[in-house]
Amino acid sequence: MHQTVSSLLPRIPISGPWITQKEMERVREAAQNAWYENSNYYQTQFEKAFASYVGRKYAISLPSCTSALHLALLGLGIGAGDEVIVPDITWIASSAPIHYTGARPVFADIDAASWCLSPQSFEQNISRKTKAVIAVDLYGNMPEMKQILSIARKRGIAVIEDAAEAIGSEYRGKKAGGFGIASAFSFHGSKTLTTGEGGMLVTDSKRMHHRAMMLRDHGRMPGDILFRNKEVAYKYKMSALQAALGWAQLERIDELVERKREIFSWYREYLENAKGITLNTQSGYVKNTYWMVTLMLDKKPKLKKERLIRLLRKRGVDCRPFFYPLSSLPAYAKSPQARKARLSNKTAYQLSGYGINLPSALRLTRQDVAFVCSQVQELIA
Ligand SMILES: *Cc1c(COP(=O)(O)O)cnc(C)c1O
Repeated sequence: MHQTVSSLLPRIPISGPWITQKEMERVREAAQNAWYENSNYYQTQFEKAFASYVGRKYAISLPSCTSALHLALLGLGIGAGDEVIVPDITWIASSAPIHYTGARPVFADIDAASWCLSPQSFEQNISRKTKAVIAVDLYGNMPEMKQILSIARKRGIAVIEDAAEAIGSEYRGKKAGGFGIASAFSFHGSKTLTTGEGGMLVTDSKRMHHRAMMLRDHGRMPGDILFRNKEVAYKYKMSALQAALGWAQLERIDELVERKREIFSWYREYLENAKGITLNTQSGYVKNTYWMVTLMLDKKPKLKKERLIRLLRKRGVDCRPFFYPLSSLPAYAKSPQARKARLSNKTAYQLSGYGINLPSALRLTRQDVAFVCSQVQELIA
């Protein structure tokens, strides 16, 4: 074993994958075989299996979810002068690709129960410049897709689903990744299914598929053997080694998703009687896969998330803050859209100060969760 840095880190990790012999064998096989005429074999297998799992016609393997969102926006022809609506509470990777195209993000408020995009706020933020909305499946939960899709249809706005945190989740019986013109997934090391770094764009649109295939490889289609680029584009390709890892992980997806739900059920059990806190919710028609178990303090101004995180880390428990509103980040200090959001997104600003993500790594044991919960209960008592 190589020397580890584990002594420097809290004992109980916030996130991390579950890798078995199966994945290691598949990657070894790819390292040996994925060259010459087989150089695209693992990507193609992973894409086919992934499209079938989420119920889409096409899947395109990419280096990240960020690149998947970028290609989805480009596929819609979005650019300078356009606006794209995003929920104010999400990872900045949901909004950064909007800038890459020259368009601007507009930050909508979240729903108080699901913590996902509020359909009402989405509708209120629509302007004549709005071309798309990126609906985010936050922490494995799902927004009110039915309402979002219906508003978008009425107003002629495209829906892109950011399903980075929600592989395996369902809304009214339909899997995350099946909503809107295209959906994007992340296989970052912290996500439920991982390839280390990686992403996938899925769609039923032949046009979107064709556009993304072209744009991800410097403006050429697979099978172009003359290297005559049709346009200047991007280099967004997943490696065979990553695809091999993802393909093998996907064959274990039910087990991975069930483990996520089991970890959450342990938290719920141990924190059932704790006063003054709320955990992730799941409405009647959603299957939440609880990417990050999240604890929301029922607004005790004295104990804010930053302090709770510091105290838990001292006790060997790694935590993260509930996302800060994008509109509150230094990166958006000068954005006029963010200035407006800071005044209007009441729910995002009320909740953000009091939420933390608890350890949600796939290799946690029931004992780990019991320890975390005892520490949490001591601190909030
Ligand atoms: C992780 C994540 C992303 C970005 O994924 P990358 O693969 O790191 O680009 C995008 N959106 C959300 C909501 C995420 O959690």
